[in-house]
Formats: sequence, structure tokens, C-alpha cells
Amino acid sequence: MVAVSYYCPRCGAVAELDRDPYLADKSVTPFPLEGWTYASPDDDFESDDWDGVRLDCGTAHDGLLWARPPTEDERRSDEEPGCGEAFYLNFVRFEDGREVEGEAESERVRLSETLGPQNPGGPGGPSGPGFSR
Ligand SMILES: [Zn+2]
Repeated sequence: MVAVSYYCPRCGAVAELDRDPYLADKSVTPFPLEGWTYASPDDDFESDDWDGVRLDCGTAHDGLLWARPPTEDERRSDEEPGCGEAFYLNFVRFEDGREVEGEAESERVRLSETLGPQNPGGPGGPSGPGFSR
């Protein structure tokens, strides 16, 4: 197992999670991807039953530690890290040998409003990385 660092997309707190070194991560998102199944850090999240891990920012578990953002103001150094909001670590998924593209539900709503004649082929197309922002 190796400690891998992930950054909260909301507050920048650093999560250090023990991971199997060979597993591939797809992205970290503030919302779950549609169709992904998330484990908690206490589950056996490396098993094939899960597509990712839900991390509650600042909530420590066995194998999961938190640190404040490295850029945060020194005056706040006595505060506990984390904003308390959940974010999602998404593993790479394959079906029939092809990588499955995840899509955040909230992102799809926003894209359906912004895609139009003035925005042809904008970010977030089926092959775009739009969900990861
Ligand atoms: Zn946070």
C-alpha cells in the first residue's frame, strides 16, 4: 500500500489515502459520477464492487489522514483541516475493454443550458474531460 494524496475540490485540504499502487485513478470530483458506485473509506474499496471512494472532507479513517491545504494562511494553522463536505475519488472503469466516461449529474445540467449554436463543440462533449472540472 502507498499513501496517495488527493485535494478537496472545495477547500484544498489534503487527503492521504492508503491505496494499492497499481490502481488507476480517473478524477476527483465534488459530485458523484452518474453510474459510479462509491465505497466509504472503511469499506474494501479496492475490490471490484466499487468504482470509487466517497471522502468526507476532514473525517479521518484507518488509512485516511487529512492535512490543511499547503497554501493556507499560517494564522489558521491551529484549525482542523477539512470543510466537512463530501467529494469523490473516481477510479478508471472499463467495460468491454473500453474506458467508461463518467458524467457528473450536476455538470450535465449545466452543459444542457450552455450548449447551443454559439458554443459548438464546447468542452464537455462525449470525449471531453468536462466532468473533471
Ligand atoms: Zn474540503
